[in-house]
Amino acid sequence: MRRMSNFVLDSLATSSSSSSRLGRWTVSSSGGETPLSVPTPAFLVHTLGGSVPHLTADVLLQHVFPEQRPPLLVSIDNCATFVDSVAQFGSGIAKFAGLPQFPVFLSPHNPGKKVLPSGYNIGESVALWGRRGKTALTVAEHQRIVAAFKPQFFQTLSDYDISSTSGLKRMKKSTTRTLEFLDKTTSGSSNGADLFATVELGWFKVDGEEANKTVKAMLTNKLDAIKGFIISGQGLTCAEVYLSGSSGRMIPEGVTLSLSPNKTEGQKKGPMNNKKRTQMDTEKKSSLNSTPVEDKADEDDKSTDSTKTSDLDYAAISEVVALLPAHLPRYVPGPLSPYEILELVLLGVDLFDSSWVTASADLGHVLVLDELTKYFPDGHEVKINNESLPGGKNGDEGTNSSNETGCTISIKDKKYFSDFTPLSSSCSCYTCRKHTKSYLNHLYATEELLGPVLVMIHNLTSFNTMMATIRHVVKKDAGVSSQTESSTSSQESLDRLKQCLKPC
Ligand SMILES: [Zn+2]
Repeated sequence: MRRMSNFVLDSLATSSSSSSRLGRWTVSSSGGETPLSVPTPAFLVHTLGGSVPHLTADVLLQHVFPEQRPPLLVSIDNCATFVDSVAQFGSGIAKFAGLPQFPVFLSPHNPGKKVLPSGYNIGESVALWGRRGKTALTVAEHQRIVAAFKPQFFQTLSDYDISSTSGLKRMKKSTTRTLEFLDKTTSGSSNGADLFATVELGWFKVDGEEANKTVKAMLTNKLDAIKGFIISGQGLTCAEVYLSGSSGRMIPEGVTLSLSPNKTEGQKKGPMNNKKRTQMDTEKKSSLNSTPVEDKADEDDKSTDSTKTSDLDYAAISEVVALLPAHLPRYVPGPLSPYEILELVLLGVDLFDSSWVTASADLGHVLVLDELTKYFPDGHEVKINNESLPGGKNGDEGTNSSNETGCTISIKDKKYFSDFTPLSSSCSCYTCRKHTKSYLNHLYATEELLGPVLVMIHNLTSFNTMMATIRHVVKKDAGVSSQTESSTSSQESLDRLKQCLKPC
């Protein structure tokens, strides 16, 4: 039976400074029950190996999403080892992973892996990087996996090996191959899933005119088959995006990260020579003999600053969004911070994922929305008299250390050793009702597995609250809020929200 989704655009922002939009994404569930309605902007729930990291299905259902069923983001690269098992199982990845209530969005790559080795997309395949190193994925194999996993949505393959330092010849090769992948995918069976076409931001960095032609070719030839777009930043701002919100657990095997994009393997121009390739293969093999990178981050990786201010290329993303038809959803994958998500919502992006939440739980970084919920309790807004915009010290203990931002704290910090308050005074999640910062600090200090479990429950709950608040402010900007809700202007509400989510 064909599964269908439908995206309805409800309203657009009215202010000149915003292109934000509100929509409803109607999605059939994996279990085939009543279709789910997902209000947008929204996020897909990031998974590894088909499961939400650190959380069992029962915990997810009872403590994080007791009523909602947001789509799960499942990535082929971290499921490659059990594709045949899912195919034999016969009922799809959601049921296989014990989460049949949730729709599934299937992407080739884990969005946390923003830096992928260069030079491996060869012939009619693209390279995926997982626990066992590289897998070459062709369109035919991709379609076999879509048929086995039975997602509601899937992302088309693209030649992602393109960055701002690539030459025009390489860029044209990337666009040609990506269009060929799209053509082959739409010519074959979609297996009842809706297709999201991939647009690489790197194309726009190399040659905007050529990039425009490629996207227009997609729209001219394949628009009927396309149900949404993914704006992929692989190779463009990868180092910065990656470091802005991810942890070592997602670093691909054999890749050394650098703060300078020019020094990352993923951004080197052209294919690697044999010597470099051999060196990377050797590094990859040695990493496979040690602890798998997706299992546990090493201490150096854990020191990565998960809250660095982003260097996302908003201008390039805006350029892409302007080309896309308004009636289809746009998704920007990756470990984007709350502030980056807000900025992209204002550019007209509809969908994100929670890979930032996964990375934050690994690092012990906690999303604290006390300021935000003071102004926007329960998704509404209240007027607080005689108070300037938030952003300074809020009087609560545990803020403003060197590695903390306006809306995150590092629970590993020694100052929480004797802090017997909950992670967030405004949150009513299981973790905040039952536990203190002191206990969480102890769990991370002793590397108890329960630490990331409890932080994951809180951070996912808070991420959900943040997204609801963003929708509230977008609604107000679109002029569809109740006039009695608040006397503040939509610009004041937006400024307030920005200050609440802004990194220090
Ligand atoms: Zn909480």
